[in-house]
Amino acid sequence: MSYGKERQIAIEAVLNACRLCQRVQADLVTADTITKKDKSPVTIADFGAQAIVNLSLMAAFPDDPIVGEEDATTLREQADLRQKVVHHVQQIRPNTTEDHILDAIDYGTYAGGANGRFWTIDPIDGTKGFLRKDQYAVALGLVENGDVVLGVLGCPNLPFDLASPHRGKGCLFVAVKGQGTVMRHLSDDTERPVHVSDIDDSRQAAFCESVESAHSDQQDSAKIAQLLHIDVPPVRIDSQCKYGIVARGEASIYLRLPTRADYQEKIWDHAAGYRVVTEAGGQVSDVDGKPLDFSHGRKLTQNTGVIVTNGRLHDRVIAAVKQVLNR
Ligand code: AMP
Ligand code: MG
Repeated sequence: MSYGKERQIAIEAVLNACRLCQRVQADLVTADTITKKDKSPVTIADFGAQAIVNLSLMAAFPDDPIVGEEDATTLREQADLRQKVVHHVQQIRPNTTEDHILDAIDYGTYAGGANGRFWTIDPIDGTKGFLRKDQYAVALGLVENGDVVLGVLGCPNLPFDLASPHRGKGCLFVAVKGQGTVMRHLSDDTERPVHVSDIDDSRQAAFCESVESAHSDQQDSAKIAQLLHIDVPPVRIDSQCKYGIVARGEASIYLRLPTRADYQEKIWDHAAGYRVVTEAGGQVSDVDGKPLDFSHGRKLTQNTGVIVTNGRLHDRVIAAVKQVLNR
């Protein structure tokens, strides 16, 4: 299957969601938001972006269910928050009623599973990064019989080139199974193929991980880096942007190491990124080297942590991970 229509609708939906997030983020006063611990900007953008994506998918593919991170319960209870979300969504989709917007958000409550196809959306992946005016991503995946066949990652603050951030930012990664991965600017539809690095010697590899130490064990990653003779400090970056930078070869390893035994990764945190990296030639598994299994509902219940590499380094990285984690 070529997934031409799915690809086009998914790109439009993610671009529109990115626009909404950018508008909300532009109004955000970082220091203020953080000192007051006011999470409302991210909440508004989260709900708004999920509404935008779900409205597009429901119109184009009415039979496809959606696994979304958010539901509208809080919004139905809080009028002021609801009005702000509705206002932002209507700026992009005029003539959409409040009820329609709330129902679209609630359409994301599908349970997932092994049969048939469904979409999975993380409207703002990396909410902490969004609040810091740093990196975040709008991540949309299409899962068919347990396999991610399409991934679109919108990264509004990601520089085109990490080494020259002044040369502009705002990237979109698109990957369809069997068709490779492309990257384009948010505001220019010229697509160019991206590939993982061809680094074979781990000493030359850059690795990346979460900014948030609660999301990935940074002490274990330092030990793994040492075993692999990597001297350069990790690139710490929020959200599935990490998959993007591995896909385009700026890092060769992304480590996501469990910080607690009972945490289960969510499928919307990995579906899009998984396809973006694998189509760019890379490899994705859990810490034991097992493939990610998207067929068990809303969470990756069969997996622990996530390890992403350029492929060539995968077995060596997994060996180091197993040694450090005693697995
Ligand atoms: P990142 O920006 O890569 O740190 O990832 C952000 C994502 O981490 C969020 O979307 C959460 O779903 C997820 N998350 C929250 N708590 C944890 C945890 N304890 N371990 C791993 N991921 C987590
Ligand atoms: Mg997320």
